[in-house]
Amino acid sequence: MEINTKYEMGQKVYRVVERFQRIENIQTCDICFGTGSINYKGYGCQCPKCLGKGNIVLNSEEVSFRRVYEPKEITSVRVTVSDKDINIRYRVDGEVVPEKELFLTMEEIVEHFKEDELVCGGQK
Ligand SMILES: [Zn+2]
Repeated sequence: MEINTKYEMGQKVYRVVERFQRIENIQTCDICFGTGSINYKGYGCQCPKCLGKGNIVLNSEEVSFRRVYEPKEITSVRVTVSDKDINIRYRVDGEVVPEKELFLTMEEIVEHFKEDELVCGGQK
């Protein structure tokens, strides 16, 4: 089996790391008014709408953004082969990085992540 790696040792590559942030839109429960319990026939019951939490998540969305790191040299390439897939990882700046996070040029990055927000010049 022949395995072609996209990059080679000694090449300088940009690293793009995807990060996620969850934003929740929360509203105070309109059944229990934020107490988490309701009075039903004289008994204190857990609010069925918010399940005792006192508030409800109207919606939540995961926003992703990408951080672009300065080009660093690849110091080693590691390929692991299992019966399911081939896993190519690179050691860059002391960290093991999957191939999909590495790019040769800024143009390639911009092309690849067209619609996403990029945060550039990440300092550690
Ligand atoms: Zn409630």
